[in-house]
Amino acid sequence: MNQQVSRWLEEHREEMADMLCRWVRIPSLRSDPEPGAPFGPEIRRMLDQAAEDLRGMGYAVRTFDGYALDASMGPEGEEPIAVLGHLDVVPAGDGWDTPPFEPVRKGNRLYGRGTNDDKGPVLAALFAMTAIREAGIPLKSGIRLILGGDEESEWEDMAYYQAHTQMPATGFSPDASFPLINTEKAILHLALRAPACAEGLAVTEMNTGERPNVIPGESRAAVAGDPALADRVRALAAEWQLPYRAEASERGVTITAEGIGGHSAHPDGRRNAIGMMLKMLRALGAAGPLAELADAVGLESDGKSLGCACADEASGPLTCNIGILRLEEAGWYGTLDLRCPVTADLDVLLASVRARLPGWTVEVLERKPPHHVPADSELVTALLAAYGEETGRPGKPMSTGGGTYAKVLKQGVAFGALFPGDEELAHQPNEYQDLDRLLQAAGIYANALIRLCGKE
Ligand SMILES: [Zn+2]
Repeated sequence: MNQQVSRWLEEHREEMADMLCRWVRIPSLRSDPEPGAPFGPEIRRMLDQAAEDLRGMGYAVRTFDGYALDASMGPEGEEPIAVLGHLDVVPAGDGWDTPPFEPVRKGNRLYGRGTNDDKGPVLAALFAMTAIREAGIPLKSGIRLILGGDEESEWEDMAYYQAHTQMPATGFSPDASFPLINTEKAILHLALRAPACAEGLAVTEMNTGERPNVIPGESRAAVAGDPALADRVRALAAEWQLPYRAEASERGVTITAEGIGGHSAHPDGRRNAIGMMLKMLRALGAAGPLAELADAVGLESDGKSLGCACADEASGPLTCNIGILRLEEAGWYGTLDLRCPVTADLDVLLASVRARLPGWTVEVLERKPPHHVPADSELVTALLAAYGEETGRPGKPMSTGGGTYAKVLKQGVAFGALFPGDEELAHQPNEYQDLDRLLQAAGIYANALIRLCGKE
Protein backbone atom coordinates (compact mmCIF):
# COMPACT_ATOMS: atom_id res chain seq x y z
CA MET A 1 0.00 0.00 0.00
CA ASN A 2 0.92 3.62 -0.34
CA GLN A 3 3.47 4.42 2.40
CA GLN A 4 1.97 7.75 3.35
CA VAL A 5 -1.46 6.24 3.70
CA SER A 6 -0.29 3.46 6.00
CA ARG A 7 1.82 5.87 8.07
CA TRP A 8 -1.13 8.23 8.49
CA LEU A 9 -3.31 5.35 9.63
CA GLU A 10 -0.69 4.17 12.15
CA GLU A 11 -0.38 7.68 13.53
CA HIS A 12 -4.14 8.04 13.96
CA ARG A 13 -4.81 4.71 15.60
CA GLU A 14 -5.53 6.20 19.03
CA GLU A 15 -7.71 8.90 17.58
CA MET A 16 -9.78 6.19 15.93
CA ALA A 17 -10.03 4.28 19.23
CA ASP A 18 -11.11 7.46 21.07
CA MET A 19 -13.76 8.19 18.51
CA LEU A 20 -15.02 4.62 18.74
CA CYS A 21 -15.33 4.98 22.54
CA ARG A 22 -17.28 8.19 22.09
CA TRP A 23 -19.67 6.53 19.66
CA VAL A 24 -20.16 3.37 21.72
CA ARG A 25 -21.16 5.48 24.74
CA ILE A 26 -24.28 6.51 22.84
CA PRO A 27 -26.78 3.64 23.15
CA SER A 28 -28.14 4.16 19.65
CA LEU A 29 -31.13 1.86 19.97
CA ARG A 30 -34.31 2.46 18.07
CA SER A 31 -37.11 3.82 20.25
CA ASP A 32 -40.31 5.79 19.82
CA PRO A 33 -40.06 8.66 17.36
CA GLU A 34 -39.80 12.25 18.51
CA PRO A 35 -39.75 15.43 16.44
CA GLY A 36 -36.54 15.35 14.38
CA ALA A 37 -35.75 11.89 15.70
CA PRO A 38 -37.64 9.32 13.62
CA PHE A 39 -35.82 6.43 15.31
CA GLY A 40 -35.82 7.95 18.79
CA PRO A 41 -33.53 10.40 20.57
CA GLU A 42 -30.45 8.19 21.01
CA ILE A 43 -30.08 7.45 17.31
CA ARG A 44 -30.53 11.16 16.63
CA ARG A 45 -27.82 11.91 19.19
CA MET A 46 -25.55 9.36 17.53
CA LEU A 47 -26.06 10.87 14.08
CA ASP A 48 -25.37 14.33 15.50
CA GLN A 49 -22.17 13.11 17.16
CA ALA A 50 -20.98 11.46 13.97
CA ALA A 51 -21.78 14.60 11.97
CA GLU A 52 -19.77 16.68 14.43
CA ASP A 53 -16.80 14.30 14.34
CA LEU A 54 -16.82 14.10 10.55
CA ARG A 55 -16.94 17.87 10.27
CA GLY A 56 -14.03 17.99 12.70
CA MET A 57 -12.11 15.82 10.26
CA GLY A 58 -12.75 18.30 7.51
CA TYR A 59 -15.72 16.78 5.72
CA ALA A 60 -18.72 18.62 4.38
CA VAL A 61 -21.50 16.61 5.98
CA ARG A 62 -25.05 16.45 4.71
CA THR A 63 -27.65 15.38 7.25
CA PHE A 64 -30.99 13.81 6.46
CA ASP A 65 -33.41 14.75 9.26
CA GLY A 66 -32.40 12.14 11.82
CA TYR A 67 -32.47 9.31 9.26
CA ALA A 68 -28.95 9.33 7.84
CA LEU A 69 -25.95 11.46 6.90
CA ASP A 70 -23.25 11.44 4.29
CA ALA A 71 -19.76 12.82 3.74
CA SER A 72 -18.04 13.01 0.37
CA MET A 73 -14.53 13.50 -0.89
CA GLY A 74 -12.82 13.67 -4.25
CA PRO A 75 -14.15 15.03 -7.53
CA GLU A 76 -17.81 15.80 -7.83
CA GLY A 77 -19.85 14.84 -10.83
CA GLU A 78 -18.39 11.44 -11.57
CA GLU A 79 -20.50 8.71 -10.05
CA PRO A 80 -18.99 8.22 -6.58
CA ILE A 81 -18.15 4.92 -4.93
CA ALA A 82 -20.38 4.49 -1.89
CA VAL A 83 -19.35 3.15 1.50
CA LEU A 84 -22.49 2.29 3.46
CA GLY A 85 -22.53 1.67 7.18
CA HIS A 86 -24.86 2.06 10.11
CA LEU A 87 -24.77 3.78 13.49
CA ASP A 88 -27.67 2.04 15.22
CA VAL A 89 -27.15 -1.05 17.37
CA VAL A 90 -29.22 -3.96 18.65
CA PRO A 91 -30.15 -4.11 22.36
CA ALA A 92 -27.35 -5.25 24.67
CA GLY A 93 -29.12 -8.39 25.88
CA ASP A 94 -27.88 -10.52 28.78
CA GLY A 95 -24.50 -11.97 29.57
CA TRP A 96 -22.15 -8.99 29.46
CA ASP A 97 -19.01 -8.94 31.63
CA THR A 98 -18.60 -5.19 31.12
CA PRO A 99 -21.20 -2.42 30.80
CA PRO A 100 -22.27 -2.66 27.14
CA PHE A 101 -22.44 1.09 26.60
CA GLU A 102 -19.35 2.04 28.59
CA PRO A 103 -16.43 0.92 26.43
CA VAL A 104 -13.74 -0.99 28.29
CA ARG A 105 -10.29 -1.48 26.82
CA LYS A 106 -8.45 -4.70 27.59
CA GLY A 107 -5.14 -4.71 25.77
CA ASN A 108 -5.94 -4.48 22.11
CA ARG A 109 -9.60 -5.08 22.55
CA LEU A 110 -12.32 -2.55 23.02
CA TYR A 111 -15.51 -4.04 24.48
CA GLY A 112 -18.95 -2.55 23.97
CA ARG A 113 -22.14 -2.84 21.94
CA GLY A 114 -21.50 -1.60 18.43
CA THR A 115 -17.70 -1.78 18.54
CA ASN A 116 -17.87 -4.46 15.87
CA ASP A 117 -21.33 -3.94 14.37
CA ASP A 118 -20.98 -1.45 12.93
CA LYS A 119 -19.36 1.59 14.53
CA GLY A 120 -15.80 0.22 14.43
CA PRO A 121 -15.87 -0.80 10.76
CA VAL A 122 -17.49 2.54 9.83
CA LEU A 123 -14.56 4.31 11.48
CA ALA A 124 -12.08 2.09 9.65
CA ALA A 125 -13.66 3.23 6.37
CA LEU A 126 -13.76 6.86 7.48
CA PHE A 127 -10.10 6.84 8.51
CA ALA A 128 -9.18 5.08 5.25
CA MET A 129 -10.84 7.89 3.28
CA THR A 130 -9.12 10.51 5.37
CA ALA A 131 -5.73 8.83 4.96
CA ILE A 132 -6.18 8.93 1.17
CA ARG A 133 -7.06 12.62 1.35
CA GLU A 134 -4.18 13.49 3.67
CA ALA A 135 -1.73 11.57 1.51
CA GLY A 136 -2.86 13.72 -1.41
CA ILE A 137 -3.66 10.78 -3.66
CA PRO A 138 -5.35 12.06 -6.83
CA LEU A 139 -8.79 10.62 -7.46
CA LYS A 140 -10.71 10.15 -10.68
CA SER A 141 -14.02 9.61 -8.93
CA GLY A 142 -15.48 10.59 -5.58
CA ILE A 143 -16.00 8.54 -2.43
CA ARG A 144 -19.16 8.95 -0.42
CA LEU A 145 -19.56 7.61 3.10
CA ILE A 146 -23.26 7.09 3.86
CA LEU A 147 -24.29 6.33 7.43
CA GLY A 148 -27.78 5.30 8.40
CA GLY A 149 -29.63 5.00 11.70
CA ASP A 150 -32.01 2.12 11.05
CA GLU A 151 -30.10 -0.84 9.68
CA GLU A 152 -30.95 -3.14 12.55
CA SER A 153 -34.66 -2.46 12.20
CA GLU A 154 -36.56 -1.42 9.12
CA TRP A 155 -34.01 0.24 6.81
CA GLU A 156 -36.23 3.31 6.78
CA ASP A 157 -33.05 5.40 6.83
CA MET A 158 -32.01 4.20 3.37
CA ALA A 159 -35.52 4.59 2.01
CA TYR A 160 -35.51 8.20 3.21
CA TYR A 161 -32.01 8.82 1.87
CA GLN A 162 -32.94 7.45 -1.54
CA ALA A 163 -36.07 9.58 -1.60
CA HIS A 164 -34.02 12.73 -0.93
CA THR A 165 -30.84 12.24 -2.93
CA GLN A 166 -29.34 10.02 -5.58
CA MET A 167 -27.90 6.78 -4.25
CA PRO A 168 -24.65 5.80 -5.99
CA ALA A 169 -24.85 2.55 -7.95
CA THR A 170 -21.60 0.96 -6.82
CA GLY A 171 -19.84 0.44 -3.52
CA PHE A 172 -19.45 -1.69 -0.44
CA SER A 173 -20.71 -2.04 3.08
CA PRO A 174 -18.16 -2.63 5.85
CA ASP A 175 -20.71 -4.55 7.89
CA ALA A 176 -19.87 -8.25 7.62
CA SER A 177 -16.74 -10.27 6.91
CA PHE A 178 -13.63 -10.36 4.79
CA PRO A 179 -12.74 -11.45 2.21
CA LEU A 180 -16.02 -10.34 0.61
CA ILE A 181 -19.69 -11.23 0.35
CA ASN A 182 -21.26 -10.96 -3.09
CA THR A 183 -24.29 -13.13 -2.40
CA GLU A 184 -26.90 -12.31 0.22
CA LYS A 185 -29.81 -14.54 0.96
CA ALA A 186 -33.38 -13.32 0.79
CA ILE A 187 -34.89 -12.51 4.18
CA LEU A 188 -38.40 -13.31 5.34
CA HIS A 189 -39.52 -11.99 8.72
CA LEU A 190 -42.80 -13.49 9.79
CA ALA A 191 -45.12 -12.60 12.67
CA LEU A 192 -46.93 -15.53 14.25
CA ARG A 193 -50.10 -15.14 16.30
CA ALA A 194 -52.18 -17.76 18.04
CA PRO A 195 -54.73 -17.82 20.84
CA ALA A 196 -53.53 -18.99 24.24
CA CYS A 197 -54.45 -22.64 24.54
CA ALA A 198 -56.94 -23.81 27.15
CA GLU A 199 -55.83 -27.43 27.07
CA GLY A 200 -52.64 -29.04 28.20
CA LEU A 201 -49.96 -27.39 30.27
CA ALA A 202 -50.95 -23.88 31.40
CA VAL A 203 -48.17 -21.43 30.56
CA THR A 204 -48.92 -18.26 32.53
CA GLU A 205 -45.98 -16.10 31.59
CA MET A 206 -43.38 -15.96 28.87
CA ASN A 207 -41.70 -12.98 27.27
CA THR A 208 -38.52 -13.82 25.42
CA GLY A 209 -36.66 -11.94 22.72
CA GLU A 210 -36.72 -8.45 21.34
CA ARG A 211 -35.80 -8.88 17.68
CA PRO A 212 -36.53 -11.39 14.94
CA ASN A 213 -32.86 -11.32 13.92
CA VAL A 214 -31.36 -12.20 17.29
CA ILE A 215 -31.00 -15.75 18.61
CA PRO A 216 -32.22 -15.42 22.19
CA GLY A 217 -29.66 -16.51 24.76
CA GLU A 218 -32.06 -17.05 27.63
CA SER A 219 -35.75 -17.80 27.97
CA ARG A 220 -37.98 -17.91 31.02
CA ALA A 221 -41.52 -19.19 31.36
CA ALA A 222 -43.90 -19.64 34.28
CA VAL A 223 -46.25 -22.57 34.23
CA ALA A 224 -49.12 -23.30 36.59
CA GLY A 225 -49.42 -26.63 38.31
CA ASP A 226 -47.80 -28.92 40.80
CA PRO A 227 -44.45 -27.59 42.08
CA ALA A 228 -43.19 -31.14 41.60
CA LEU A 229 -42.99 -30.26 37.90
CA ALA A 230 -39.64 -28.69 38.82
CA ASP A 231 -38.21 -32.16 39.39
CA ARG A 232 -39.51 -33.27 36.03
CA VAL A 233 -37.76 -30.29 34.38
CA ARG A 234 -34.48 -31.20 36.08
CA ALA A 235 -34.81 -34.85 35.07
CA LEU A 236 -35.45 -33.93 31.43
CA ALA A 237 -32.59 -31.43 31.44
CA ALA A 238 -30.26 -34.17 32.64
CA GLU A 239 -31.61 -36.62 30.08
CA TRP A 240 -31.21 -34.16 27.19
CA GLN A 241 -27.96 -32.75 28.58
CA LEU A 242 -29.24 -29.23 28.10
CA PRO A 243 -29.01 -26.41 30.68
CA TYR A 244 -32.40 -25.65 32.22
CA ARG A 245 -33.26 -24.39 35.68
CA ALA A 246 -36.53 -24.80 37.50
CA GLU A 247 -37.84 -23.07 40.60
CA ALA A 248 -41.00 -24.17 42.30
CA SER A 249 -43.31 -21.42 43.50
CA GLU A 250 -46.72 -21.37 45.12
CA ARG A 251 -48.53 -21.20 41.83
CA GLY A 252 -46.33 -23.56 39.88
CA VAL A 253 -42.86 -23.54 38.38
CA THR A 254 -40.62 -21.01 36.71
CA ILE A 255 -38.41 -22.55 34.05
CA THR A 256 -35.27 -20.99 32.61
CA ALA A 257 -33.59 -22.25 29.45
CA GLU A 258 -30.00 -21.23 28.87
CA GLY A 259 -29.23 -20.99 25.20
CA ILE A 260 -26.33 -19.52 23.32
CA GLY A 261 -27.29 -16.20 21.78
CA GLY A 262 -26.16 -14.78 18.48
CA HIS A 263 -27.16 -13.44 15.09
CA SER A 264 -30.01 -15.25 13.40
CA ALA A 265 -28.06 -15.53 10.16
CA HIS A 266 -25.32 -17.58 11.83
CA PRO A 267 -26.95 -20.35 13.85
CA ASP A 268 -23.92 -22.66 13.82
CA GLY A 269 -22.66 -23.19 17.34
CA ARG A 270 -25.63 -21.30 18.84
CA ARG A 271 -28.63 -22.64 20.74
CA ASN A 272 -31.94 -20.87 20.57
CA ALA A 273 -33.33 -20.50 24.12
CA ILE A 274 -36.90 -20.23 22.82
CA GLY A 275 -36.41 -23.49 20.93
CA MET A 276 -35.18 -25.07 24.15
CA MET A 277 -38.16 -23.72 26.04
CA LEU A 278 -40.59 -25.05 23.45
CA LYS A 279 -38.99 -28.47 23.69
CA MET A 280 -39.41 -28.44 27.46
CA LEU A 281 -42.97 -27.11 27.45
CA ARG A 282 -43.93 -29.74 24.87
CA ALA A 283 -42.48 -32.50 27.04
CA LEU A 284 -44.36 -31.14 30.06
CA GLY A 285 -47.65 -31.35 28.21
CA ALA A 286 -48.12 -28.11 26.25
CA ALA A 287 -50.78 -28.55 23.59
CA GLY A 288 -52.25 -26.57 20.70
CA PRO A 289 -50.20 -23.90 18.92
CA LEU A 290 -47.23 -24.21 21.30
CA ALA A 291 -46.94 -27.91 20.59
CA GLU A 292 -47.23 -27.16 16.88
CA LEU A 293 -44.43 -24.61 17.03
CA ALA A 294 -42.29 -26.97 19.10
CA ASP A 295 -42.72 -29.68 16.48
CA ALA A 296 -42.33 -27.48 13.42
CA VAL A 297 -39.32 -25.49 14.63
CA GLY A 298 -38.18 -26.35 18.14
CA LEU A 299 -34.41 -26.31 18.20
CA GLU A 300 -33.98 -26.62 14.45
CA SER A 301 -32.21 -23.83 12.61
CA ASP A 302 -32.43 -25.38 9.14
CA GLY A 303 -36.20 -25.20 8.67
CA LYS A 304 -36.45 -28.95 8.10
CA SER A 305 -39.63 -29.76 10.00
CA LEU A 306 -41.08 -26.49 8.75
CA GLY A 307 -40.72 -27.92 5.24
CA CYS A 308 -38.34 -25.14 4.30
CA ALA A 309 -34.90 -26.76 4.27
CA CYS A 310 -33.13 -25.94 1.01
CA ALA A 311 -29.76 -24.77 -0.29
CA ASP A 312 -27.94 -23.70 -3.43
CA GLU A 313 -24.34 -23.42 -4.52
CA ALA A 314 -24.02 -19.62 -4.37
CA SER A 315 -25.80 -19.16 -1.03
CA GLY A 316 -25.53 -22.31 1.06
CA PRO A 317 -28.44 -23.52 3.22
CA LEU A 318 -31.56 -21.77 4.49
CA THR A 319 -31.53 -20.74 8.15
CA CYS A 320 -34.48 -20.29 10.48
CA ASN A 321 -34.74 -18.49 13.84
CA ILE A 322 -37.46 -17.86 16.39
CA GLY A 323 -36.40 -14.49 17.75
CA ILE A 324 -39.43 -13.60 19.87
CA LEU A 325 -42.04 -15.61 21.69
CA ARG A 326 -44.29 -14.04 24.24
CA LEU A 327 -47.65 -14.50 25.85
CA GLU A 328 -49.68 -11.33 25.52
CA GLU A 329 -53.20 -10.54 26.56
CA ALA A 330 -54.43 -11.39 23.08
CA GLY A 331 -52.52 -14.68 23.01
CA TRP A 332 -49.18 -15.84 21.68
CA TYR A 333 -46.95 -13.64 19.56
CA GLY A 334 -43.78 -14.88 17.92
CA THR A 335 -41.44 -14.16 15.02
CA LEU A 336 -39.63 -16.30 12.52
CA ASP A 337 -36.60 -15.11 10.60
CA LEU A 338 -35.88 -17.14 7.46
CA ARG A 339 -32.70 -16.51 5.44
CA CYS A 340 -33.34 -18.07 2.06
CA PRO A 341 -30.98 -19.11 -0.75
CA VAL A 342 -31.06 -16.81 -3.82
CA THR A 343 -32.78 -19.48 -5.92
CA ALA A 344 -35.50 -20.24 -3.35
CA ASP A 345 -39.12 -19.35 -4.11
CA LEU A 346 -40.26 -17.33 -1.10
CA ASP A 347 -43.94 -17.91 -1.81
CA VAL A 348 -43.43 -21.65 -1.71
CA LEU A 349 -41.56 -21.34 1.60
CA LEU A 350 -44.30 -19.14 3.03
CA ALA A 351 -46.98 -21.62 1.98
CA SER A 352 -45.04 -24.37 3.68
CA VAL A 353 -44.75 -22.40 6.93
CA ARG A 354 -48.51 -21.78 6.89
CA ALA A 355 -49.22 -25.44 6.21
CA ARG A 356 -47.03 -26.64 9.09
CA LEU A 357 -48.42 -24.07 11.54
CA PRO A 358 -52.18 -24.27 10.98
CA GLY A 359 -52.94 -23.03 14.49
CA TRP A 360 -51.07 -19.78 13.87
CA THR A 361 -51.80 -16.82 11.66
CA VAL A 362 -48.65 -16.04 9.74
CA GLU A 363 -48.10 -12.49 8.53
CA VAL A 364 -45.13 -11.18 6.54
CA LEU A 365 -43.37 -8.44 8.51
CA GLU A 366 -40.55 -7.98 6.08
CA ARG A 367 -39.46 -9.45 2.80
CA LYS A 368 -36.05 -8.58 1.40
CA PRO A 369 -35.10 -9.97 -1.98
CA PRO A 370 -31.78 -11.77 -2.47
CA HIS A 371 -28.76 -9.99 -3.88
CA HIS A 372 -25.89 -11.10 -6.06
CA VAL A 373 -22.95 -9.32 -7.73
CA PRO A 374 -20.94 -11.45 -10.18
CA ALA A 375 -17.57 -12.64 -8.94
CA ASP A 376 -15.86 -11.39 -12.12
CA SER A 377 -17.22 -7.82 -11.82
CA GLU A 378 -14.77 -4.93 -11.62
CA LEU A 379 -15.90 -4.17 -8.07
CA VAL A 380 -15.38 -7.67 -6.71
CA THR A 381 -12.01 -8.17 -8.41
CA ALA A 382 -10.70 -4.78 -7.16
CA LEU A 383 -11.77 -5.40 -3.56
CA LEU A 384 -10.38 -8.91 -3.49
CA ALA A 385 -7.09 -7.66 -4.94
CA ALA A 386 -6.89 -5.10 -2.11
CA TYR A 387 -7.64 -7.75 0.49
CA GLY A 388 -5.07 -10.10 -1.01
CA GLU A 389 -2.37 -7.43 -1.12
CA GLU A 390 -2.91 -6.24 2.46
CA THR A 391 -3.25 -9.65 4.09
CA GLY A 392 -1.10 -11.82 1.85
CA ARG A 393 -4.01 -14.23 1.69
CA PRO A 394 -6.06 -14.83 -1.43
CA GLY A 395 -9.78 -14.37 -0.92
CA LYS A 396 -12.83 -15.89 -2.52
CA PRO A 397 -16.28 -14.29 -2.55
CA MET A 398 -18.78 -15.71 -0.05
CA SER A 399 -22.48 -15.86 0.67
CA THR A 400 -24.28 -14.68 3.80
CA GLY A 401 -27.68 -14.74 5.38
CA GLY A 402 -27.00 -11.46 7.12
CA GLY A 403 -28.62 -8.78 5.03
CA THR A 404 -26.36 -5.72 4.80
CA TYR A 405 -26.72 -2.35 3.15
CA ALA A 406 -24.81 -3.80 0.18
CA LYS A 407 -28.26 -4.74 -1.09
CA VAL A 408 -29.24 -1.10 -1.30
CA LEU A 409 -26.67 -0.58 -4.07
CA LYS A 410 -27.17 -2.02 -7.52
CA GLN A 411 -23.57 -3.16 -7.51
CA GLY A 412 -22.93 -3.55 -3.80
CA VAL A 413 -21.00 -6.07 -1.76
CA ALA A 414 -20.25 -6.52 1.91
CA PHE A 415 -16.54 -6.16 2.62
CA GLY A 416 -15.16 -6.74 6.14
CA ALA A 417 -14.47 -5.89 8.75
CA LEU A 418 -14.40 -9.28 10.47
CA PHE A 419 -11.45 -11.45 9.41
CA PRO A 420 -11.65 -15.16 8.63
CA GLY A 421 -11.37 -17.13 11.86
CA ASP A 422 -12.30 -14.17 14.08
CA GLU A 423 -15.06 -14.58 16.63
CA GLU A 424 -18.50 -13.73 15.28
CA LEU A 425 -19.63 -11.08 17.76
CA ALA A 426 -22.38 -9.10 16.14
CA HIS A 427 -25.53 -8.99 18.29
CA GLN A 428 -23.83 -10.93 21.10
CA PRO A 429 -22.77 -10.17 24.64
CA ASN A 430 -19.14 -9.12 25.09
CA GLU A 431 -18.95 -7.75 21.57
CA TYR A 432 -15.49 -6.29 21.05
CA GLN A 433 -13.28 -4.79 18.41
CA ASP A 434 -9.63 -5.72 18.12
CA LEU A 435 -7.89 -2.42 17.40
CA ASP A 436 -5.03 -3.98 15.39
CA ARG A 437 -7.60 -5.67 13.21
CA LEU A 438 -9.47 -2.41 12.82
CA LEU A 439 -6.33 -0.70 11.64
CA GLN A 440 -5.67 -3.52 9.21
CA ALA A 441 -9.24 -3.20 7.95
CA ALA A 442 -8.66 0.52 7.42
CA GLY A 443 -5.59 -0.34 5.35
CA ILE A 444 -7.60 -2.74 3.20
CA TYR A 445 -10.33 -0.13 2.70
CA ALA A 446 -7.78 2.50 1.70
CA ASN A 447 -6.14 0.11 -0.74
CA ALA A 448 -9.54 -0.81 -2.20
CA LEU A 449 -10.71 2.80 -2.52
CA ILE A 450 -7.48 3.79 -4.25
CA ARG A 451 -7.99 0.94 -6.73
CA LEU A 452 -11.58 1.97 -7.39
CA CYS A 453 -11.28 5.75 -7.34
CA GLY A 454 -7.62 6.66 -7.81
CA LYS A 455 -6.13 8.05 -10.99
CA GLU A 456 -3.65 5.68 -12.65
ZN1 LIG B 1 -24.45 -4.37 11.13
